[in-house]
Amino acid sequence: MQAHIEALLSSKYCPLWHDQPDVRPEALPALSQDENCELLIVGGGFTGLWGALQVKERSPETDIILIEKTFIADGSSGRNGGFINSSLAHGETNTDHHFPGEADKLYELGQQNMTELLATFERYNIDARYEQVGETEVATNQGSVEVMRKDFEEEEAAGDDVVWFDKNEMQAEVNSPTYLAGLWRKGDQNGIIDPARVCWGLKRVLLDLGVRIFENTPLDDCHPLGNDKMQSHCVDHVITSDKVLMATNAYHNPLKVVSRTTIPVWDYQIATEPLNQQQLDSLGWHKSRHAIGNHANMFHYYRVTQDNRITWGGGGAVRYYFNKGTDFAKHADMPERFEQLSKEFFETFPSLTGINFSHRWSGIIATSTRFCMVPGSTLNGRVAWAVGYTGLGVGATRFGARIGIELLGYQPSDILKMQFVTKKPMPWAPEPFRWFGVRFTQNALVKADRNNGKRGLWLKLLDAMNLGFTC
Ligand SMILES: Cc1cc2nc3c(=O)[nH]c(=O)nc-3n(C[C@H](O)[C@H](O)[C@H](O)COP(=O)(O)OP(=O)(O)OC[C@H]3O[C@@H](n4cnc5c(N)ncnc54)[C@H](O)[C@@H]3O)c2cc1C
Repeated sequence: MQAHIEALLSSKYCPLWHDQPDVRPEALPALSQDENCELLIVGGGFTGLWGALQVKERSPETDIILIEKTFIADGSSGRNGGFINSSLAHGETNTDHHFPGEADKLYELGQQNMTELLATFERYNIDARYEQVGETEVATNQGSVEVMRKDFEEEEAAGDDVVWFDKNEMQAEVNSPTYLAGLWRKGDQNGIIDPARVCWGLKRVLLDLGVRIFENTPLDDCHPLGNDKMQSHCVDHVITSDKVLMATNAYHNPLKVVSRTTIPVWDYQIATEPLNQQQLDSLGWHKSRHAIGNHANMFHYYRVTQDNRITWGGGGAVRYYFNKGTDFAKHADMPERFEQLSKEFFETFPSLTGINFSHRWSGIIATSTRFCMVPGSTLNGRVAWAVGYTGLGVGATRFGARIGIELLGYQPSDILKMQFVTKKPMPWAPEPFRWFGVRFTQNALVKADRNNGKRGLWLKLLDAMNLGFTC
């Protein structure tokens, strides 16, 4: 058996972050009778949890019910890489194209969101395991070195806190023979967290503030009741509320207007056993604890945890399955995806040959055609949503939730007038065009990565229209 496959044999399918029995709370009981409330929140991930907290902070008397179809943190919020980033609209080019003239405001709002988010951890004593390590991009081909060097010079000239590593310097930071250069964006408040601890911390705070939470409670149907109420059906019971916030990510939502905004793209991750001292020394990584992504279309993202494991995700294993497949039984535990990740891991870190992976897991990334969150509301502001963070939701969900609750009337502000909120996203093409389009684009991206970053005709066409595929 090949070594990279053998390294997976003792892994268990479970997000590393979930596997913390000492801090993981028991699931709360499911809804067992009909209920009434002012605000119903559907979804127990970051968006739902931040939405409930921000409403309670703005309007403490609000009676809130939050329902979650499985358990808090079972969605992407408990399955991600834990990279926390202040960006709200997925980079400058994307922002300028979709929201011309709003880049500065969105930057400012992103910074403000991060400051407030981190202050919330302090205020409520949430053990997020936050480390302000910035973000480090590594080049693994000459094309990337040139692009990154140009970025570095522009960012440095703009006064950003950035560091350039040539090949030897980068390999001294983290020892991979594949690295040709590195760009460390040290500034801002970007870094890493333990995402499940954040969800569970928020859950505790919400319960203390009087939010009623029901787990194992799926929403089956939701419709208006008269002119000012909503009725939400959850298996055998009904919740009647004045307002509903949908925080359901790319999972199927009974309201089509929410569901059709995003497609679910599966992303897979693996985590090693804790590295021993010799392994740590062989990499040198533990000194600066960089949060790393390689400069590529199908990039890997990886980091160290507090107990010195490496988590490794992304790359070519990312997939969209026909007709918005979100069936965990079918798509979650796919050996070939994890084998591909493992192979790419050992190509990057050959000195770790012999190490085993303890965990493997996957989750869905809600991808929108504008590559960032899509907020919206309907029924005269009785229902609102924020979905589609496209791979950058750990920080941005707090802002998405803020827009969602403001659309519902909880202290609305000027942000609701921005194109970022008012502009409708382009719809996804119907099947089978959607599947072919995503697959074709993904193959073109892989080809470009193999070809020193050189983009073929199809990608150039998409670039010209500012379309494409990212996660
Ligand atoms: C593998 C992976 C790695 C990622 N890495 C990063 C990263 O490093 N940095 C970053 O910024 N972003 C990352 N992301 C994206 C980020 O995790 C998400 O954008 C973010 O967690 C979305 O939060 P959410 O609350 O909107 O969705 P979720 O966390 O998915 O929450 C939605 C919840 O709604 C529940 N739900 C759905 N339908 C119903 C229903 N009908 N009734 C009741 N409940 C329902 C679901 O069970 C789920 O718990 C990653 C995502 C994945 C999958």
